[in-house]
This record gives sequence, structure tokens and C-alpha cells, in this order.
Amino acid sequence: EHIMAIRNKNINPMTSKITYYKKPVFIHQGHMQWLWDMDGRRYLDLFAGVATVAVGHCHPKVTAAVEKQLKKLWHTTNIYVNAPLHEYCEKLASHLPDPLKVIYLTNSGSEANDLAMLMARIHTGNYDIITFRGSYHGGSQQTMGLTSQSSYKYPIATSSGCTHTMCPDVFRGPWGGSHCRDSPVQTIRQCSCVQGQCMANEHYIGQLKETFAASVPSRVAGFFGEPIQGMGGAVQYPKNYFKEAYKLVREKGGVCIADEVQTGFGRTGTHFWGFQGYGVLPDIVTMAKGIGNGFPMAAVVTTPEIAASFAKAYHFNTFGGNSVACAVGSAVLNAIREDGLQQNCHHVGTYLMTELAKLRDKHEIIGDVRGKGLQIGVEMVKDKASREPLGPEAMMEIFEDVKDMGVLIGKGGLYGQTFRIQPPMCITTADVDFFLAVFDKAIH
Ligand code: PMP
Repeated sequence: EHIMAIRNKNINPMTSKITYYKKPVFIHQGHMQWLWDMDGRRYLDLFAGVATVAVGHCHPKVTAAVEKQLKKLWHTTNIYVNAPLHEYCEKLASHLPDPLKVIYLTNSGSEANDLAMLMARIHTGNYDIITFRGSYHGGSQQTMGLTSQSSYKYPIATSSGCTHTMCPDVFRGPWGGSHCRDSPVQTIRQCSCVQGQCMANEHYIGQLKETFAASVPSRVAGFFGEPIQGMGGAVQYPKNYFKEAYKLVREKGGVCIADEVQTGFGRTGTHFWGFQGYGVLPDIVTMAKGIGNGFPMAAVVTTPEIAASFAKAYHFNTFGGNSVACAVGSAVLNAIREDGLQQNCHHVGTYLMTELAKLRDKHEIIGDVRGKGLQIGVEMVKDKASREPLGPEAMMEIFEDVKDMGVLIGKGGLYGQTFRIQPPMCITTADVDFFLAVFDKAIH
């Protein structure tokens, strides 16, 4: 009661609004994929603090690296040469393909996207930015313009120059295209592929062309895309969509920005970055969340050419490149490699998707199972024929039951109709079996 009184009185009211459960969970402690509440109840964490705790809660090696750095040096700003900053930037750059080698360290995903937006405008001399419907790119004044989900926006604060093109959502969008997903499971929707060419892709690219014609007639500064939409509910795109979209954007004078805030650091399993799954090379990559395993840090990585355009005025960030953050970042990259977490995302994620597809075939209210690696969405519907989104009360009931049986999952999608599974990347197939039994029971 005392804690809830503080929450209601002293913490910004939106926090209470987004408290997930009717009976809130008081998290007290964590270890790897497990969390414990104040009463000592254990939960399997399949949401990782919104896809953030990449290598596991209080991962022993990351914790040890932080402890070591905390005793040595906390902060100098990056105007001084210091080892953690340089070690980290060299290590992070080694995870990115050429020519993406120039790093700007920031503190949050919003800040990273804000900076990427500015870079795109300065480099191209153009102003207009295109993103997808259903996207989420941040909550700062500028990034609110990029974000399309209206529940996260204040129109008065939204920056101008951002247009939202139709999201190639093959389940909820009008054009189907299940075969086009690089995914181990099929959707209930029949694909309208013709000789291996997905018509859905053509339709969505047509929409992008229309966006140019209608809203951005001449030149564009940038095109932002999450390789798999996160808050939008694990929405993937037809295989060739990004290749064609990038070409179109570049023809119009713009640069292409991959928002890897949720999909980066091996989460999609087959690749370290989500964009690699589509065979494209962005001009700017933004990253946050998993980069610090819960420590507040983020980054923008770009090419020397774009960095050169962005060097005319001083760009300074007090905490970006903080010594402790850099020590965390290095330890996270080590843990991903040493613990084989990208491979684990592929292995456990494929198993989870395959088993979830069986539950989808069994339950009328599971409409779609999609995603890649451990970036998975389960879209709930009233029935498979209408594909109408399951209502908030039924969603809440399942959600609360799953929690009461010891598993935490997330929610997303335009109508709040998609359960999100984005756990620490260290979960096992035994954890998946536990979750599936709980989920099956909750849906029953
Ligand atoms: N981009 C994406 C894809 C995100 O999911 C988020 C946060 N949910 C952001 C950007 C913004 O990150 P932050 O909350 O760290 O500002």
C-alpha cells in the first residue's frame, strides 16, 4: 500500500497507466531469465524489461565488469582519452559491416533516433522523413514525429516533416503474403505469390511510391524502419521489401536508417543485426535496449561520409560514452559471444515458433504467430475468419493468468492485440515448454 501510494502520488501518472497488471508485480530481484517478487515468487521473464535485458538479469560476468569499472573510474566525458570508451567503440565497430564504422554514444533509443534524424537532414540537405504506420521510434519531441502509434503522441509536440507509409503487415494489412516472411511458420493467410514473386511486396512498394507522390514529392532526408516492428507487434516485412524501398529512397536523395533498438545484438538469431536478414546495408543504424542489458546507453553508427557532414558544429553529449556504460557494453558483447546467445536465439526461437504454430492451429483465438529468433509476436483474434482483434478485457485476462502461473510476457500491436515474447536471449527449450503449458492453459 505504501509503495502504491508513492507510485500514485510521486511518480508520473503515465507510469500507473502503463502498469501492466491489475494486481501489480513488485519485482525485487533477478538472475538471468528469472525474476522474483517481494514474496519470493519466481517468474520466468519473457519480456526482459521491454526487450532490453539481452544477456540475462545480473549476468555474473557483466556484473563483475561493472564492479571493476565502478571502483576505477565512473565518468570523465569523452573529451578525455580513456580506455573503456576506445575499447568499446573498437569492439562495437567490429560487429558492423563496412562502411558503418563511426559511432556516437547516447543514452536512450529516443536520443539515438533524434540524432539519426538530424544527421539525415544535415547530410542530405532535405527535410522530409518517412517511417511506417505502427512504428515506434521514441518519445522525445522530434522522435514523436517518427513514431506513428497515436497513443504515444501529442500532436502539438510532434515535429513536422514526418510521413508514415503503410506498414507491410502481411497479417493485418490488405495484401497477404505469408510465404514472403523469412519465418519457420506459415500464417493462416494464403499468399498470393506468383512464380515466387510476392504480390504483397509490390503492393506495399506501390504504397511507398504513392507516399512519395502524395506527401514527399521531391526529395527526402531519411527513411526509418525497424527490421521487425517491436511495439507494433513483431511485424515483419516481405523479404524484398527493404531492398526495393532502400533503392527508392536513395533515388529520391534520402538515407536509410535501421532502428535496431529491439532487433539488434543477435536477437533475430540468424544475424547480429535485423537489417542483415533482409540483405540490405543502411546508412545509419540506431541501437539501444539490449546494448546495455538494462544500463542506460545507446548508439548511432554511421558512415565516415555522413559523419563528415555532421562535423560542422560541435556535437556533445555529457553521458554518452560514460566509462561505466562502456564497460557494460563491452561485457555485453563478450557475453553474447561467449554464451553463444545469437545461436541460442535461433535455436530456441525456432522451437518456440514451431510449437506456438501448433497452439495457433489448436486455438480459434490465435490468429498469427510471427517473428524471428527471440523477437516473437502472437496475434490474438476474436476468430480466425474475421481476424478481428481480441478485445482488451480478454487480452488482459490471459495476460494476468499467464502471470499468475509464473510467466511475464509483453503486449503490443495497434489494438493491443499481440502478445510479445522478447526474453533474455539465454532462455532454454525447457523454459519454452513451461511457457507453452502455461499459455495453453490460460487460453483455455
Ligand atoms: N526505437 C524502438 C524500436 C523502440 O522500441 C524504442 C523503445 N521502445 C525506442 C526506439 C525508444 O527507446 P527509448 O525508450 O530508450 O528512448
